[in-house]
Amino acid sequence: MRQVAGIIVAEKEKKAVVLSAVSGVTEMLVQFISCTRTEEDVDSFMKAISKLHTDLVDDALTTEKCQALAVEELVAKLVKLERMLYGSCYIEEVNPRIRDYVQCFGERLSVIIVAALLNEMGIKAKPVDADELGIITDGEYGTAMVNMEATRSTIRPKLMKGLQDGVTPVITGFFGRAPEGSVTVFGRNGSDYSAAAVANAMGASVLEIWKDVDGFMSVDPKIVPSARPIPQLSYDEAAELAYFGAKVVHPMTMEPARSGNIEIRVKNVFRPEAPGTAIKDSGKNGDMSIKSISCMKNLSLVKVFGEGTGYKLGVLADIASLLREAEVNIYSVVTSLTCIALLVDKKDVAKAQKVLTEGGVTRMETHANFALMCIVGEGLGYHKGLASRVFKAVAKEGVNVGLISAGASLVAYHFTVDEADLDKATRAVHEELFGC
Ligand code: ASP
Ligand code: MG
Repeated sequence: MRQVAGIIVAEKEKKAVVLSAVSGVTEMLVQFISCTRTEEDVDSFMKAISKLHTDLVDDALTTEKCQALAVEELVAKLVKLERMLYGSCYIEEVNPRIRDYVQCFGERLSVIIVAALLNEMGIKAKPVDADELGIITDGEYGTAMVNMEATRSTIRPKLMKGLQDGVTPVITGFFGRAPEGSVTVFGRNGSDYSAAAVANAMGASVLEIWKDVDGFMSVDPKIVPSARPIPQLSYDEAAELAYFGAKVVHPMTMEPARSGNIEIRVKNVFRPEAPGTAIKDSGKNGDMSIKSISCMKNLSLVKVFGEGTGYKLGVLADIASLLREAEVNIYSVVTSLTCIALLVDKKDVAKAQKVLTEGGVTRMETHANFALMCIVGEGLGYHKGLASRVFKAVAKEGVNVGLISAGASLVAYHFTVDEADLDKATRAVHEELFGC
């Protein structure tokens, strides 16, 4: 917390701060609200979450006055959370609305502590809840998107006024308010996206995203220890990498930044001196090299068969709308005359099978334990022979390639391998493309 506050204080320009939850807290909330609970469960959960935050206040803040004030603000929020949890336990229901409402409390609590810390360090700061401020979403629970127009016109005047008064707003990331008023979250890591929306609304020139890693790497260093940091990416490259498994930033972050022409700098809280990754418009003379390989595990293939599937009009639309109803995300789709192959999360397979069967699909096959490798770089469309180099490297390891997809985005190729082969295949491709 002190490291974070130090970084904020060191930045002398006028700024708004967007914060995520204290490490581990969102996970606690998500787990707790994953099923209905008893009163006793709620009591012990509330004790744990309240202790975690008040301990932090005791550790991070030095004066008793500031500590007392912060605890008072924390308690006010905790009471709201507790009431909602009791409510859900009495009606014995957890619905999407309750789930989103509960998940966002990590942020409502963390902003109080950091704002208090800044005030103690002599910077005037104020905790701000995104729903009250007016970050407006499309109302989709769990995976909301920001309505940028509505958000800009609501929050810009408020934020500008605060900045003029010399107050740094410390805004909750991760969620906003649906047009009808309910809280909707942007999905895990959503604070990055919130920050990009705030930056866009304010007309900021730079968005700094402070993480616990050095930015984007050429590959996951846990798989390939010689992975290199990537100094610069285009918006498309960063978005594809984030979507296909590089968990550095939320995949939607690049959209508000791109439309506001805002440079994103991803930096490491624990190594502020490291250059990190800059994400900006690559321009005409951009760097056309291959930048990175990202990996994604826990996927499954669902194959839908039917005579002349490829001839029938609207089959893809039917399948997509069935899966949409079941809230199953499709990562990739490849079709042939007799079969449509879809890549989905492993955890969604049973749901997918059920809705597709109910929707009239008679023949289906599923294959579990797939992993996806995605190769990203602005130059992909122009590099001749790249695909053959990649697949040769994979074949040399005796690894079989499943679904292949190329050409949808000019900056990304992806293909699947058995999950057990992922590390080996990744090392081979990294060696082939980056020489280490
Ligand atoms: N606290 C949320 C999460 O853990 C949002 C974020 O960290 O950006 O996913
Ligand atoms: Mg987080």
